[in-house]
Amino acid sequence: HQTKILVSACLMGFNVRYNGSAKADLHEALRRWQQEDRLVIHCPELAAGLPVPRRPAEIVAGYGADVMREQARIIENDGRDVTAHYQLAAWLALQAAQNAGCRAALLTDGSPTCGSQFIYNGTFSGTRQQGMGVAAALLEEHGIRVFSDRQLPALVAWMEEMEREQ
Ligand code: SF4
Repeated sequence: HQTKILVSACLMGFNVRYNGSAKADLHEALRRWQQEDRLVIHCPELAAGLPVPRRPAEIVAGYGADVMREQARIIENDGRDVTAHYQLAAWLALQAAQNAGCRAALLTDGSPTCGSQFIYNGTFSGTRQQGMGVAAALLEEHGIRVFSDRQLPALVAWMEEMEREQ
């Protein structure tokens, strides 16, 4: 029984980010896991119906978990409130992970959806703050381990441990 991992689609080279670019950084481990059919490649924002390209969005005065509890909002850089879209994106990411039996996720950092180590602070000034986006927070709340794209070595180690336990 193979350990499966949910992976941000933009990490795998799909052009789904808000600015139409991809974060192509195909580490050798990722390539191998893909060949072993362990990866569930998913873009929560796309799944929720957001277009490409789209305006950058940030969480205002809070974190992903606050957004899921209706205690913070997500707005685009023209002020449009897109909270509901991003809440849906988080639920769809959880559904994709649970349907495939994923026990971990490797997500692109900095995103209001996929960010896990940092997000932007809601002022659209490029100011980072430590914290999680909506999907990362919801996945963690449901027991799915979240790793950022810069924590790939930690995920590799975690996978090895999982496989040893099986
Ligand atoms: Fe990448 Fe996640 Fe943003 Fe989709 S929602 S473009 S997978 S960071």
